[in-house]
Order: sequence, then C-alpha cells, then structure tokens
Amino acid sequence: MSRFEDLGLIDPLLRAVKEEGYDTPTPIQQRTIKPVAEGKDLLGVAQTGTGKTAAFALPILQRLNAVPMPSPRHVRVLVLSPTRELASQIGESFARYGRFLHFRHTVVFGGVGQNPQATALRHGVDVLVATPGRPLDLIEQGIAKLDKVGIFVLDEADRMLDMGFIHDVRRIIGKLPKQRQTLFFSATMPQEIQALSKDILTNPVRIEVTPPATTVEKISQSLYHVDRHGKFGLLRKLLQDPSLKRTLVFTRTKRGANKLAEQLNAAFVKADAIHGNKAQSARERALENFKRGLSRVLVATDIAARGIDVDGVSHVVNYDMPDVPENYVHRIGRTARAGAEGSAIAFCSPEERDELKAVERLIRLRIPVRPVPAGIAHPAPEPPSPHGQRPALQAHAGHRQVQPPQHRPGPHPGPRHPAHAGQSPAPHPASAAGPGPNPPAPPSPAPAPQSHAPRPNAPSHHSVPRRIAWRKHRR
Ligand code: AMP
Repeated sequence: MSRFEDLGLIDPLLRAVKEEGYDTPTPIQQRTIKPVAEGKDLLGVAQTGTGKTAAFALPILQRLNAVPMPSPRHVRVLVLSPTRELASQIGESFARYGRFLHFRHTVVFGGVGQNPQATALRHGVDVLVATPGRPLDLIEQGIAKLDKVGIFVLDEADRMLDMGFIHDVRRIIGKLPKQRQTLFFSATMPQEIQALSKDILTNPVRIEVTPPATTVEKISQSLYHVDRHGKFGLLRKLLQDPSLKRTLVFTRTKRGANKLAEQLNAAFVKADAIHGNKAQSARERALENFKRGLSRVLVATDIAARGIDVDGVSHVVNYDMPDVPENYVHRIGRTARAGAEGSAIAFCSPEERDELKAVERLIRLRIPVRPVPAGIAHPAPEPPSPHGQRPALQAHAGHRQVQPPQHRPGPHPGPRHPAHAGQSPAPHPASAAGPGPNPPAPPSPAPAPQSHAPRPNAPSHHSVPRRIAWRKHRR
C-alpha cells in the first residue's frame, strides 16, 4: 500500500497531512501527487469527495516552496472553482496543508465587498482561489495580474459549463501565460469540456477515479409516500426524534428552502437556509451555525450544497425528490461521512413518483417505505403497473453497491422547470434516457407491495456497502 512518505513530499507537508489525520493517500492522491510535483499537466476525471483537493494542493505547495515569493500584484497559482463555498473550502485546504510553509493565499468571489480582496491582491499572492467572475473585474481594474501564473487549476469544469461560467473561464484562460502547468478536473467529460481540455492541456497525465461519496456504506435509506401538503407536518413529526441531531434538508427551489426554514423556526426548530440567492455572509453564517450545532436543520438546494463538507450530518431529508436522479446520490452522500453512520429519508408526493422511479433505477434499489404517522396526509396507494405490480428492483436486503452516477448533466439548453432556474440543471441526454451504464436489475418475480405501508420483506434500512479504506480517522 502506498504511503504519503513514498510520494516524495517534503517534511512540512507530511507533517500537515499527519495532523489532518490522513493515514494513506486516496487513489487520486497516489496517482497525482508525483506527476504534478514534477510539473506535468493533469486531466483528472474525479469529483469532490475523492480527496482531489489535497491531490492538487499538496504538490502545488511543494512546487511553490521551491521558488521565492511573488512580486506585488502577481499571482503564481490560480485555482478556479464554480461555487463560492467550494472556493472557500479549497482556500481553507491550502491553509491547512500549507500550515508549516510560508506562502500567501487568498480567496475571491462576487457578492461581497471588493476592498479586502483588492488589498490582499495588491501585495501579490502565491495562490488565488476564485470563482470566475470577480478576477475578471479585478484584472480590468488593474488590481490583479495573471501574466505570471505558473500553475492553473480548473476545478469542476463540467459544473462551470452547467452554471454558464464557461465563457468567463475561457476569458480568464486567455489572460494566462501560454507557458504554464495546467491541472484540469471534471466529474464528467461532455463534449465541450473535452474540447476545452484539449485546448488547454499539453500531454496531460490522465487519471480517472470513482467518487466514494456514492459508495458510502451505513446510509440507512427510507421513504415516505406523503401528500405535498403533508410534508411539513411529517418533517416536524420526525424532528421530534432527538436522533435527528444535524439534519440537512434538500428542497428543489430557493423559495422552497426559504419558506421551509421560516416554517421550522416558527415551529421552534432552529433552521437556516442556504442557496445561491443568499449573500455570501449569510451563507457562511448558515454553514457555520450548522457546523457548530447552533442550528439543527440546514435547508439547502442542490447547487448550494455541492462541495459542502460538514462532518456529523446525522440525517439527510429529501424534502423534494431531486429533478436529476444523480443528485439523490450526491445528497445522501452528505451523511455517513468520515466513518459516521447516517440516514437518508425521502418524501415522495404523488407528483414526484416519476422522479422516485428514476432514482430507484439509478441506485438499483427499492428504497424501503415507512408508514406515514397518523394525522398526516398521505396519498392513495400507487396504481398497479400494467403487469399488476411494480417491479421489484431488488426485493431482498442484499448489499449492492450504489454505482456512481456516470452522467452528470452536460451542456444543456436550460433548466427543466423555469421555476428552478439555477438550481437543477436539465439531465444529460444520456442520463435522461436511462440509468447510465448500469441497467436496472430485471424485474423479480417476488411481488412488491404497492402501498405506503412497509413491505413485509423490506429491510428496515439498506446499507450501501464498501467502506472507503482511506477515510480519515477522526482525532
Ligand atoms: P475532497 O475530494 O478534496 O473534497 O476531499 C473529501 C474529503 O476527504 C475531505 O473531508 C478531506 O479532508 C478528506 N481527505 C482527503 N484526503 C484524505 C486522505 N488521504 N485520507 C483521509 N481523508 C482524506
């Protein structure tokens, strides 16, 4: 088994990694650290949760350490990330991994005052982590200069495309020197992203890894068939159980997130909402409150929650079923992190049954149904299929690995529902057509009950197998 010591990292980085509690490098770290430290370009097909931040931050810090500090107004390493949360987290990671080295870094994004960012940049920084819009403003004002960037990291390139940032990304790339090292990360490689990678990479090392967030074990999954109007009552009822300590609730829209947080606070459950329309300071506060246990519930939309890494989330509630089935897997991967156990609960109204079916096809599991508590509106049983029953995707409690979503949304004409603009991108044509590379299991002859009552053979929960061996040991 490979060790950090075998990857040629310098002592201050090895000490930092040790303090983080990392025992062994993750697969992407094993394959990335050496070539990046040697100055090679990289194409990493990987997403958040694989340990990719350390995979690029550690060798970058090592390279920076070998050469002197930047001149004023210059940037030596530029990392572009699609969301403010992810940018902040990458900045924090650089600070942690580089705690025994001397280097300057800063994080810039829109939605906050420019002055502190400008001051930091005027002095020059070794590492600038940014979302795409703000650096362009700062360059135009002559505050930042990118003509000395020696290493450029493009993170979550496919997300950049989904979120409409690709044009800004290309403009920024146009301001970088041609002679540089480029590290390119994307969870999927739709055509436009492939073209971009070809344009900007030179003889890259290509590394592909599967995201462990989708293979997290110990997530017990359950499902309630509930009327749209019964969802709030059901959530309140569930929250009477003190084991729902730190609960992340997903809604489909920003408005829905705000409304739910208000309703919960009115019902004396401390809750915050986090989504793209909130000011950066409000988002940070919401996240901090949740991390510190000051709020018990964080209501989030899919995009806002991407890349948020909060340990100790006890429950994930799919208050609305996701438009894009892959998001279910990303959502539930927010619990059971770092070796903890976790539960994922889904609320499915009659209008959302198609979304539920898409999720079950993708994960190749029937999510066990729980009875709705008395007094809460729940729908009539699902009508039988033409064959008289709903096919059992997997009737027994066997452990089947949830396969990673291979098809994240690619270039798309726009959001599926106008009301959800900016929230959930339309599915990639390939993913819309089917469950990806894993076809659904053939219908089993075992009859599958139709009602909202628990199925007699259903397990009380499904454990999704395979612990990820490299998960960090909590200190
Ligand atoms: P990332 O994919 O960079 O967002 O990392 C996902 C999570 O994995 C973060 O919580 C990291 O702290 C953690 N992590 C990264 N590298 C390792 C490692 N070698 N061992 C254990 N945990 C790690």
